[in-house]
Amino acid sequence: MKPESQPPSTPTNESPTPCRTCQEFTLAEAVANGERDWSKATDCRVLRKRHQEAGECLGREAG
Ligand SMILES: [Zn+2]
Repeated sequence: MKPESQPPSTPTNESPTPCRTCQEFTLAEAVANGERDWSKATDCRVLRKRHQEAGECLGREAG
């Protein structure tokens, strides 16, 4: 049985990115999840997304 939507607690399924900022946010999120600090983990995801949407991310292809 396979759920249609992915659960929010699977950060390890994400492919690695060459962007150091993304790596730091991903690592911080993993640590927060390990500490069951869900609000902190959410903050890390939001900050990473904001960083990517701001065009600062080196892990995305230019274009
Ligand atoms: Zn990035």
